Amino acid sequence: MDCKNCKSESCSAKDKKAEENEQEFMERQKLARKMCRIKHKIVVLSGKGGVGKSTVSANLASSLAKEGYNVGLLDVDIHGPSIPTMFNLTGQSVYQTEEGIEPVMAGPNLKVISVAFFLKDQEQAVIWRGPMKMGVIKQFLSEVNWGELDYLIVDSPPGTGDEPLSVCQLLENVDGCVMVTTPQEVASADVRKSISFCKQLNVPVIGVLENMSGFMCPKCGTVEYIFSQGGGEKLAAQMGVKFLGSVPIDPLIARSGDDGKPFVQAFAESETAKLFEKIIEPVIAMCGRNDD
Ligand code: ADP
Repeated sequence: MDCKNCKSESCSAKDKKAEENEQEFMERQKLARKMCRIKHKIVVLSGKGGVGKSTVSANLASSLAKEGYNVGLLDVDIHGPSIPTMFNLTGQSVYQTEEGIEPVMAGPNLKVISVAFFLKDQEQAVIWRGPMKMGVIKQFLSEVNWGELDYLIVDSPPGTGDEPLSVCQLLENVDGCVMVTTPQEVASADVRKSISFCKQLNVPVIGVLENMSGFMCPKCGTVEYIFSQGGGEKLAAQMGVKFLGSVPIDPLIARSGDDGKPFVQAFAESETAKLFEKIIEPVIAMCGRNDD
C-alpha cells in the first residue's frame, strides 16, 4: 500500500506532508510579497550562449535607469555570470539585512544581483543539478530586497532548459521577453524554439533583436555584413513577432563590456548606443499595456 491509499490517522508521514505543504505555502507567500512590489518583469532570452544576451540585458537595464526608472537586473546565468564584469562589480559580495539580501548598486537607481556575488572564488565552477538551480533562482526572487521597482530585467541562461523555465514560472506574470539572436541560420533555429517556448508558457514576446549583424569599421563607421543579412527580421516575420532592430559587431561594445561600463553609458552619443536605447520603447509600450 502506498501513502496515497493509506487511511491511518496516526501515521507521521501525514504530519510531514502537512508541514511540507505549509512550508511551500509560506515560500509562495514570501515570493508573492516581493514580486508584487515589482511593476514589470522582462526576461532576456536567447537560443544559444555567446550571442550577446548579457550585453543586451546590461544595456537595456542601463537605458531604463537612465530614463529615471527604478531598475533591478537579475543575472541568473548560473554557469556564465558576466553581468558583474559588465558593471565593474567583480569581487563584490552581498550582505543580509532584516529586509533580505541587499542587491549591489550599479548606479543610483540600478540594483544588481548575480550568482557571482555568492561565489567565494570567481573562478569556481558552479556544479548544481536542476532542483538546486531552481532553488537558487527562487531565492534570488524571494529573498533579495529588491524594494519597489519599475522594471526587473532578468538575464536568463540560454536555451529552453530548466533555468529559463524556472524563471518564467517563478515570475508568474512576465510582461514580456526580449529574444536575442545573431544572423546565422544555426542561431535562428534555436531562437524559433525559444519563441515557441514562450508561446507555450504564455509569455508575450516583445520582439527579436539581431546582434552582431555585421562588422562596424571603427575608422569609417561603415558596416560590412560578414554573415548573412536580414536573418533576424525574416525570422521575426515568420514567427509573427516584432523585429526590434539590428546591432552591429562593434569593437567598442566588447571593450565597454570588459571595462565594466555599459555601452549606452560609455559611448552614449554613438549611433550604436542609440540602437540599443531604442529597444526600451517597445519594452515600455508592452509593459504600459499591462498597467492598471
Ligand atoms: P551571452 O550573454 O549571449 O553569452 P555576452 O553578452 O556575454 O553573450 O557577449 C559575449 C561577448 O561578445 C562579450 O565579450 C561581449 O562584450 C561581446 N559582444 C556582444 N555583443 C557585441 C557586439 N554587438 N559587438 C561586439 N562585441 C559584442
